[in-house]
Amino acid sequence: MQKLKSSHHMFIQAFMTRGVMNGTEVFNLLKLSCEKYGDYDEASRTQLLLDYCHTINSNISMLGLEIKKGKDETNGTGYYGLVNTVESNITLLASQYTENELQFFKMLLEEFVKSESGTIGSIEALGISEKIPKKMSKTDANQLLDRFEREKWIGKSKEGRMYLGIRGVMEMEQYIFEMFEDFAVRCNMCKKLCIQGARCMNGECETRMHFHCAQRVFRGKSEKRCPECRGPWQESSQTRQADQVEME
Ligand SMILES: [Zn+2]
Ligand SMILES: [Zn+2]
Repeated sequence: MQKLKSSHHMFIQAFMTRGVMNGTEVFNLLKLSCEKYGDYDEASRTQLLLDYCHTINSNISMLGLEIKKGKDETNGTGYYGLVNTVESNITLLASQYTENELQFFKMLLEEFVKSESGTIGSIEALGISEKIPKKMSKTDANQLLDRFEREKWIGKSKEGRMYLGIRGVMEMEQYIFEMFEDFAVRCNMCKKLCIQGARCMNGECETRMHFHCAQRVFRGKSEKRCPECRGPWQESSQTRQADQVEME
């Protein structure tokens, strides 16, 4: 196993501070740490990043940590994150939030998973403040939601709908499968948890795909059919419009 060098340390430190980073941010960080402590070659930066993550991961796996890649469910943007692999990831939040706030987050997850679209409106989200063991004022609930959003546990669309954020996607997958096994579905294409996605129109078929995965599957095909049951496939735009109607 290759030992960690100063450049690797700098890399890990940045992840510990920021949690998740998109591709541009990661490559900037790579350039910065390489230029400070080693060699950097723009042409082979992808391989360099792979090597970096590999070396770091083989050193930190014994701590139950891993640098992992994930995708934002709304647009398929790739992210890298330093995630927990051993403990139930909810413990990570438990160390930073009060028990009551944690309950709020768990109920938020439940709403995402059980909703048709994988998103919820702000009124529903604020409504959780009434259902948790110790009721919370709307102002406090709003502040809490802002903090979840800042830390990327949740995301918010332009229309104000909330969804599981990139950090939630990367850290909570296992927890969600364990807690909501009757509702959590895997994407037919990438086999990862799919909360927001397009679905098969056949009521008996549970096939779902992330919007960006479905786009890849159906690229260049004039007719969209479910890869499992061959039934007609719902357009992602229809799914989204249906949600908006449902909201009003
Ligand atoms: Zn997928
Ligand atoms: Zn189907």
